[in-house]
Amino acid sequence: MQLSPKLAAKFDKLQSSYPVKRSALIPMLMYGQDELGSVSDELIAEIARRLGLNNVQVEETLAYYSMLHRQPIGKHHVQVCTNVACMLRGGAELLEHAKKRLEIGHKEVTKDGVFSLEEVECIGACTGAPAIQVNYDFYENVTPLNLDRLIEDLDKGKRPEPQGVISGALHERAKQETPLISKRWGIKDSHKIDVALQHGAYQALDKALKQMTPESIIDEVKQSSLRGRGGAGFPTGLKWSFVPKDSPKPKYVICNADESEPGTCKDRPLMEMDPHQLIEGITIAGRAINAHSGFIYIRGEYRYVLDIVDAAIAEAYERGYLGKNILDSGFDFDLLIHTGAGAYECGEESALMESLEGKRGNPRIKPPFPAVVGLYGCPTIINNVETLCAVPAIILEGGLTYANRGTPKNGGTRLLCVSGSVNKPGIYEIPLGMNMKKFIDEMAGGMRNGKKLKAVIPGGSSCPVFRAEEIDIAMDYDTVAKAGSMLGSGGMVVIDEDTCMVDMARRIMHFYAHESCGWCIPCREGTSWLKKMLDRFHAGLGRPEDIDLIGELSMNMLGRTFCPLGDAAAMPTISIVQKFRNEFEDHLQGRCAYNKSAEALIGSR
Ligand code: SF4
Repeated sequence: MQLSPKLAAKFDKLQSSYPVKRSALIPMLMYGQDELGSVSDELIAEIARRLGLNNVQVEETLAYYSMLHRQPIGKHHVQVCTNVACMLRGGAELLEHAKKRLEIGHKEVTKDGVFSLEEVECIGACTGAPAIQVNYDFYENVTPLNLDRLIEDLDKGKRPEPQGVISGALHERAKQETPLISKRWGIKDSHKIDVALQHGAYQALDKALKQMTPESIIDEVKQSSLRGRGGAGFPTGLKWSFVPKDSPKPKYVICNADESEPGTCKDRPLMEMDPHQLIEGITIAGRAINAHSGFIYIRGEYRYVLDIVDAAIAEAYERGYLGKNILDSGFDFDLLIHTGAGAYECGEESALMESLEGKRGNPRIKPPFPAVVGLYGCPTIINNVETLCAVPAIILEGGLTYANRGTPKNGGTRLLCVSGSVNKPGIYEIPLGMNMKKFIDEMAGGMRNGKKLKAVIPGGSSCPVFRAEEIDIAMDYDTVAKAGSMLGSGGMVVIDEDTCMVDMARRIMHFYAHESCGWCIPCREGTSWLKKMLDRFHAGLGRPEDIDLIGELSMNMLGRTFCPLGDAAAMPTISIVQKFRNEFEDHLQGRCAYNKSAEALIGSR
C-alpha cells in the first residue's frame, strides 16, 4: 500500500517507539484512519506487515474499539453525547434535532458523504453539557440553534473555533480557594514550558532528584495520605512500595489518562492547561520506583489534548527535564504518549496494559498485580492523571502539610467536576472533607431554575446515588463510603426533581451494556438483560414483579465479575431501585416524573 510521506513517517516513528512493536498497533490504526477515512483491508494488511502480525490479529483487535471504523464515515463526524450529564441538559433532544437536521440516523452517513452522525457515550465534557464532538473538536453548551449554525458553517467549509474546557465557574473558583494542582489554570499559555517554569514547574523534580532517595520519595507520598483519584482510592505511596526493588526486569510508570467515567472530566483540563505538572509527577514516580520509561495512555477522544501533552513532552526533552541525565542527576527517564481508541474498559488498569500492548482491552486475572507483573510482564505502577499531578506539590510542601489539607487518611485536595442541574457546573479544587451540601449550595451555585434537589451521584455514574436528604456529609473517601457510596473519580452529577430516576437507571445501564467487554457471563448477560428490562419498564411496559427482578439481577452481578465493570453497573441500579421504588411503581400506573413519551425512549439507539 502506498502511504503518504507524512503517514509513512508517522508509522516509522511509532514502530520504533515501543519496547514491543505490537504496542504501536492502536495508534497506527487511529492515525491511518484519520488520514484515509476508515480502516480498509489495505490498511490492515500494511499495518500487519509492518508489525509482523497477521491480518486476523489486527482485525480482531480493532473490532474491540468503538472509534475505529471499517466503513467510511462522513467528512464531518458529528457525535452527540446523551450520557447522564448531557441527558440532564437536553442531550437526547439535541440528538433528535441532529437526526432531523441531517436527515440521517445513528451511525448513518449523508448521501454526499459530508456528514455522519453517532450517538456516543460520555466524551468528557460533562461540565459543558450538552456537548458534542465533530471529528476531534469539542463544542459545549450546544443548543439546537447553534448546532444548526455549526452544521451550516461546516457545510460551507468553515471550521468554527472548537472549545477547550475552561469555564467561567472554574475561574471564579480559582479566586476563592488556594488551589494546588489547578494553580496554573487560567494563566495565559500555562501549557508552555517557559510559563510553567515562571510559575514553579520542575522545582519538585529538582528536589526529588538532588535531595531525596527513591525511598524518601515513597515515604513522603505515604505520609501525604494521597489516595488514587481515578476511582478506587488506593493509597498511592503504598502502591509504589509494592514494586520489587530487586527485580532485574525494567520497570514502568503508566499514567492512566483514559478518563471515561460518565460525569468525570477533570483530567482533561489538568493535561490541557498544565501538562508540565503531569510530566513532572510521572518523572518523580519513575525515580521513586527506579523506572526509566513511562507512558501516558490517553483516551482517543482527547486528540487535541494529546497534541498539547506531546508538545510539552518535546519541550521537556529539549530543556533536560526528560531523557538522559535529567538535571545532571544521572537519572534517565523517557516518556511517550499513547492514544486509545474508544473503550471505557481500558480505564481498568490491567485492561489498559493489554491495550497498551496492542491487544483487545480485556482485563487480566489478578493476582499477580501490576506492581509485580505489569506491562510486558514487568513491574509497573499505574496512576491516574490527577494522582500524579499531586506528586510535585507533595514533594515541595512535604507530605504532612499536604495531608493536613484534607482529613485523616484522606490527604490533600481533589478536583470535583460538578454537572447536571446546578447553576455553576464546573471543575472545582476542594480540600477533602468539604461538606457536600454546602459545596452544591454555595460553590456550585445551588439548584438551577429554582428546582428542588432530588438526588446526587457523588463520584461518577458507577457510584450509588444519594437522596437529597443524605448529602449533609463530609466529602472524603471514608465518610462517603460509610454513607453508602463512593467519591469515585470526582464526577458529581446533581439531579433535580423533574428527572425520572427510572430513565436515569436506564441510561446508566445502556452505558455499561455498551462498554461490557463480554468476557464474563454475569456482566455480559446481566447488563444486556437489565438494559432491556429498564427500557421496557420506562416505556410503561413493566410488570410489578420486574422491580424486584431488576434489583435481584443487579445483586447477582455484584462481586461476581472479573473486573469492576459488573459492580459499576450494579451499584447505581440497586441504589435507584431501593431509593426510588415509588417511581418504578408510578411507571406501572403510566406516570413518569419527566413525562417523556415511552415510544421515543424505546429503540432510540
Ligand atoms: Fe468484561 Fe464486564 Fe467481565 Fe469486566 S466485568 S471482564 S467488562 S465482561
